[in-house]
Amino acid sequence: MRLVLFGPPGVGKGTQAKLLAVELGIPHISTGDMLREAVRTGTELGLKAKAVIDSGHLVSDDIMVGIMREVLSSPRCDPGFILDGFPRTVPQAEALTALLSDLQVCLDCVVNLRISNEIVAGRLGSRRTCRKCAKIYSLAETVIADPARCPNCGGELYQREDDRPETVLRRLRVYAESTAPVEEYYRKRALLRDVDGSGTVKGVNGAILALLGRS
Ligand code: AMP
Repeated sequence: MRLVLFGPPGVGKGTQAKLLAVELGIPHISTGDMLREAVRTGTELGLKAKAVIDSGHLVSDDIMVGIMREVLSSPRCDPGFILDGFPRTVPQAEALTALLSDLQVCLDCVVNLRISNEIVAGRLGSRRTCRKCAKIYSLAETVIADPARCPNCGGELYQREDDRPETVLRRLRVYAESTAPVEEYYRKRALLRDVDGSGTVKGVNGAILALLGRS
């Protein structure tokens, strides 16, 4: 199965994609995770992307399409994939269509996770990620004895630079201007399926599986 998880930052794409990857047995491809890993390891891409990511802007379409061409052409994606964070602009969506056509495959579905800006701002402000196991927590929804330590592995929990309040507002603005039009691109192609992203992790997961006919 070939899926795109679409929706604003903080809607839960990463959390849902991780669950679906296990449930459907296909890889979770997160462009945000790939870029953060490049920053962490200090690659040329990471050095270029760091300031862009930290400020809440988008990395250029050329760079992102180049990365995705390599990933989607690899044997790892033969059984299918779940894209999280790509495409984020209409030119990226067009490039993805062309890329998949070259590979002689097509998307099955674009899951459109919907949520209000108020809930998103609250979720991003309370989001913490473990440096060691990459598990994501919401301090607003999960009681954690020591909010600096991961209950799963004891690693350090940190707040992403781009989850700080002023950057969250910019990311929501960038989303409205550059990413929201991608919704129309897929709606016109009858690939978009709306899911309410404001429920519990389990509830949203169940709704996605149901629309995919896997519940
Ligand atoms: P995410 O983890 O998906 O919220 O991505 C974090 C940041 O990485 C974004 O705010 C962008 O700066 C960058 N990024 C991730 N995916 C893309 C993409 N498809 N196009 C451009 N920039 C991206």
